[in-house]
Amino acid sequence: MAAIKDQAICLGTRKYSESSQVVTLFGREHGKIKALAKGSRRPKSRFGGGIEPLTCGSIIFSPASADASLSALIEFDLVESFAGLRNDLLTLHSAQYAGYLLGEFTEEMDPHEDLFDSFYECLDNWQGTDRPGEMLIWFILTLLDQIGLGIQWQRCSACSREMPGRGRLYFSSSVGGMICPDCEPAVTDKKFIEPTVLGILREPDRVSSFQNRQVVDVLDLLNYHLREQLGREPKIMTFMNQLLRQQLR
Ligand SMILES: [Zn+2]
Repeated sequence: MAAIKDQAICLGTRKYSESSQVVTLFGREHGKIKALAKGSRRPKSRFGGGIEPLTCGSIIFSPASADASLSALIEFDLVESFAGLRNDLLTLHSAQYAGYLLGEFTEEMDPHEDLFDSFYECLDNWQGTDRPGEMLIWFILTLLDQIGLGIQWQRCSACSREMPGRGRLYFSSSVGGMICPDCEPAVTDKKFIEPTVLGILREPDRVSSFQNRQVVDVLDLLNYHLREQLGREPKIMTFMNQLLRQQLR
């Protein structure tokens, strides 16, 4: 198949052999791409000694075919290294976690230009922020919206009635959102949601600055939802939960 050009962010890499890497990329026009970068680990390769996660490059690749499950990466020309991400532990891991989620929740060769742009913007903004958790919340909400798992916070996901303004309110990942007090007794998979957490999730853009505890609580809820949707808790999520507590509590 003919070679294709795109702009792509590297979500992750693994060693394939002494000289080669398998890279997971997110292309602006082609979505997730898993590709073999032959010879990329050689210092004098055309990939400059290896492709680093969370960098963006102009790529040329030959897509996977019936004979090959991986695409073949022909060129990765570094455009932006987002070097500032690597100055802070929580920032770097927030960005890595966002990239992991982007890879898990999208299909290969399924384009999401808006998601690419949102992720690029986040990586750029992460470099200059001292509040990486807030950016992670924003990215997760954007990701859920873009992949059709957007959450309606104002209405009950079971009966569609408007949620009451007060009282003990619950969120259920299996139902896909909030559940009103009438529907709640019949739902077993649910989590109590603090009014302040719900307030943030309903209008995250209106919150100018989150308290650290709120960042942890909001991410706890979102991680519960992501874990249920994935059907397992990935190691990076466990690590992220621990790191958030260490750094923000
Ligand atoms: Zn209901």
